[in-house]
Formats: sequence, C-alpha cells, structure tokens
Amino acid sequence: MADSDEYDSYDYIFKVVLVGDSGVGKSNLFSRFTRNTFRLQTLPTIGLDFDAKNMVIDSRTIRTQIWDTAGQERFKALASTYYRGALGALLVYDVTERDTFRDLERLWLQELRLHACDEIAVILVGNKADLRHLRTVSVEEGRAFAERHGLGFVETSALDSTNVDAAFENIVTEIYRRVSQRSI
Ligand code: GDP
Ligand code: MG
Repeated sequence: MADSDEYDSYDYIFKVVLVGDSGVGKSNLFSRFTRNTFRLQTLPTIGLDFDAKNMVIDSRTIRTQIWDTAGQERFKALASTYYRGALGALLVYDVTERDTFRDLERLWLQELRLHACDEIAVILVGNKADLRHLRTVSVEEGRAFAERHGLGFVETSALDSTNVDAAFENIVTEIYRRVSQRSI
C-alpha cells in the first residue's frame, strides 16, 4: 500500500528513551504521543515497550523510535539495552511529587552519565501540569535545574495533551541539529 510504503521510508531514525521515577507519567506521555491515548490507572508492564512515529523536519522524514521502561525503571539488566544507541532522552518528573524532582539529580542524571552516550540530547519534562492545585515544584525551579545542567525544558500534561507533541518535537529537532552539524 502506498501509505505504508511512505511510512517505511525515512531519512533518519532516532532512538529516544523515557527516563524518570515510576508514576511520573512516562507511559502516558509515550501513548499520548504515539497513539493519542491516556490511561487513568497505572498498568506497570514488565520489560520494555517501544513504538515509532514519523515526523518531518527541514524536509527530512525522521522516524523516532521511542522506548519506555515498563514498570522496571531501575532494572539494572535492562539498562545497557535500553540506553544503547539512544540519541535523546525525556527526563521526566511529576510537578506534584517533589521526590521525583529530587531523584533527577540523585538517580537519573547519574544513570544517564553511566549508561547513555556522551552526546545524548536531554529535555527535562515536568509532567502533570494540569494538577495546578497539587503542584509542589514550580516552573522556575524546573527551568533553573534544566539550565544548570544544560538541558531543554518543558512542562506537559499527558492528560490534557499540553506540550506533549512539543516535548518530542523539541528533542527530535535537537538531535537532528546535532546529527546534521556532525555530518557537514
Ligand atoms: P510511569 O510509571 O512513569 O510510566 O507513569 P504512568 O504513565 O503509568 O502514569 C502514572 C499515573 O499518573 C497514572 O495514574 C496516570 O493516569 C497518571 N498521569 C500520567 N500523566 C498524567 C498527567 O499529565 N496528568 C495527570 N493528572 N495524571 C497523569
Ligand atoms: Mg510506565
């Protein structure tokens, strides 16, 4: 079929991983972006989940393969497979759960340093921005953390779709910028 032929042809393929504490909304960001679906209940799956989506940047078709650790965020044996070849990461915390913000520095940046390639592009994602009355991490704190560590930054809601596409587009654009600079 013409449609699937079109879908199968691309100029670049980029792998992007979702990173962050359990419960911050990684799987829902993933499913909102790839399938436009949202689940209210947490369904920790065992192992890995991945899906791909094409987008066009600079007249190039870029296929982004997105990986989600399903329920086993810190399962050591998966780490090397999970991070292998990843050019981008969405580093996710929950703006209503301070511990998930604290763990960025304590756990996740270290995990990235340990397992990901040095050139990986990272965007910090403060999710659940729809829960305004429950917020415990301010936008300013998120932005300051991102600046301090040289990361992109966005607040999202997988529930109401705010900035979900923008977060993925941002990371893919950044990867594309790095890759195309390198190949000149
Ligand atoms: P994961 O463990 O990081 O993959 O998190 P999940 O995607 O499974 O989400 C954990 C819980 O948070 C579920 O109950 C989701 O429905 C909820 N959740 C995820 N994203 C949002 C969001 O943007 N807003 C709100 N209000 N709840 C969310
Ligand atoms: Mg999950």
